[in-house]
Amino acid sequence: MSLKIPRSAILLLLLLLLCSFTAISAHENEDPTIKTMEDFSGYPFHESHSTSQSHTTVSLLSVDAQSLQKQIDELSTYSDTPAPSVTRVLYTEKDVLARRFIKNLMGLSGLSVREDAVGNIFGRWEGYNPDLSAVATGSHIDAIPYSGKYDGVVGVLGAIEAINVLKRSGFKPKRSLEVILFTSEEPTRFGISCLGSRLMAGIEALANALKTTVDGQNVSFLDAAGSAGYTKHEDDLSSVFLKKESYSGFVELHIEQGPILEEEGISIGIVTAIAAPASIKVEFEGNGGHAGAVLMPNRNDAGLAAAELALAVEKHVLESGSVDTVGTVGILELHPGAINSIPSKSHLEIDTRDIDEERRNIVIEKIHRSAIAIASKREVSLSEFKIVNQDPPALSDKSIIEAMEASSKELNLTHKFMISRAYHDSLFMARVSPMGMIFIPCYKGYSHKPEEYASIQDISNGVKVLALTLAKLSLQ
Ligand SMILES: [Zn+2]
Repeated sequence: MSLKIPRSAILLLLLLLLCSFTAISAHENEDPTIKTMEDFSGYPFHESHSTSQSHTTVSLLSVDAQSLQKQIDELSTYSDTPAPSVTRVLYTEKDVLARRFIKNLMGLSGLSVREDAVGNIFGRWEGYNPDLSAVATGSHIDAIPYSGKYDGVVGVLGAIEAINVLKRSGFKPKRSLEVILFTSEEPTRFGISCLGSRLMAGIEALANALKTTVDGQNVSFLDAAGSAGYTKHEDDLSSVFLKKESYSGFVELHIEQGPILEEEGISIGIVTAIAAPASIKVEFEGNGGHAGAVLMPNRNDAGLAAAELALAVEKHVLESGSVDTVGTVGILELHPGAINSIPSKSHLEIDTRDIDEERRNIVIEKIHRSAIAIASKREVSLSEFKIVNQDPPALSDKSIIEAMEASSKELNLTHKFMISRAYHDSLFMARVSPMGMIFIPCYKGYSHKPEEYASIQDISNGVKVLALTLAKLSLQ
């Protein structure tokens, strides 16, 4: 009679043998690198020394705050307006110089640098298992006219410093770590926000639209990119699309751009969701005429149609009943714009957002219906109603939220869960990778103006949480 041992039993036996061997070697192996690796993973393999683990890990993480502040200050000098304001628009000379500054810092940190066809910049620290998908972090360095020096910048320079922190601590990543500088998060030049990350997310419609997109000076996107040293060929645009599963995780460090963390004295905001943005362009046209000669019953005033629609936007937003629904008419232009002329044309740009996509879409629908009704009542034509973008919200990934939370706790930093009402490159990275965001406090919530400020202490806290989060994700 032959002895039959089920295959599953053999597998189990092998697994047990392997586990006991790993346990013994972990105990006996005093190699400090392996010890550090265990510490960073944050998972107590052996309860006996789990408390000393986190102590060791935390004490190993030191941010070079002085150098980081110096880099932030130096980057802010690449600006087309005088300090303290910063103006750095896509593919301008100052943008190209600022990019060079970042690539140089990436090189100094030992990262291998590559760029794609639109100038998204990647600095890679190869992990000891390079076949695994990488963990990425990053943000943007472009700045709208007369803005400040921390928006985006903290998430790029802070990411490079997070790599430095890990290198100094003796950490070796299992998955490769990458720092990404995203091209044109701000819509200043071509009217498209998060241009680089949208393309990375593989949006074909954008790749097609960019072939014919021009800026306010009628310079084409492709010419502008070409003059900055990037692609001149429209066929290259789809090469920016990320391959599926390029990244196992993406984390962005950013100033809050709101007052909550500062007001509540909390160090770290852990973002659980990013609100869904949409923007709409509307144009009304009427007959215009002389402000004295045309009597009121005979007018079809395109300006009043715009005014009425602006109020309707507010009404529809408030009707949602949620504080999370917001709507803004940020642009309202009248033509010809003379005191004694009835506006013959009006142009509005409407921004509306919500963490609930369906609720936001209902608002858009109501705005559309109001625009049609107002046009007919006032006998003007609704010559344009264009939804420029209508993006879904993004939810942070559970395992990344857990890594950010564990890191904050191990670093003894107060934290709270929050929603990002502004949107970021993370919104689009969430389409191709599990995503998470770390917020740090900023002065009075100011952003997009020269008074924007974050203390180096708060920035350093954010860098530490980022470093530890990346370490944990790299070992997963
Ligand atoms: Zn930003």
